[in-house]
Amino acid sequence: MCYLLRSARFLAADVLSRTLSPGDLAIDATMGNGYDTLTLCRLVGEAGRVIAFDIQPAAVESTRKRLEEAGVAGRAALYCVGHEHMAEVVTEKARAIVFNLGWLPGGDKSVTTRWETTRRAVEAALGLLQPLGVLVICAYPGHAEGEREKEALAAMLAALPPQRYNVLRQQFLNAGPGAPECFVIQAQERA
Ligand code: SAM
Repeated sequence: MCYLLRSARFLAADVLSRTLSPGDLAIDATMGNGYDTLTLCRLVGEAGRVIAFDIQPAAVESTRKRLEEAGVAGRAALYCVGHEHMAEVVTEKARAIVFNLGWLPGGDKSVTTRWETTRRAVEAALGLLQPLGVLVICAYPGHAEGEREKEALAAMLAALPPQRYNVLRQQFLNAGPGAPECFVIQAQERA
């Protein structure tokens, strides 16, 4: 099978599938309709756990239904809580943490992730990574708040100490303005 250089989401999924193993703890910071939560549940297996956050009850319900239909609901704890409160809920270090920024597909576009809360959540996530754990963030700069959020995120991540984190930014340079981007941060083995 050939490797397709396809999209920000493709890189995110690829990194997660290479990082997570059965029994791991993973966090979905933006559960939305639950596609990423389901992927994480499958990757961590029966012995693993997924903790997921969203501020919209409709997102939590949509995700719960998706996980139940797939028979993996028992692996996940779903919180209708802002991801900026992640560290108040999660007490153990995680192998992988995922953010898919923006609004709920098919939902109210005015309810989007915002830099003020995303910044606090990313700070919390960095502190919750296991050694060699990964933080994967897909950003959508195709709208004004998304562009502001992506630029501020890039500046924050660029300033992380290289002794503690490796930071990758994936951009499709010929895809025009507004193309999604993927950021991958890996905690060093000895931070
Ligand atoms: N990963 C999802 C999936 O697989 O369907 C899609 C996520 S969607 C692009 C972004 C989600 O972030 C929306 O459902 C939105 O409600 C949620 N969100 C916005 N602000 C949030 C916050 N402070 N904490 C947690 N989730 C938030």
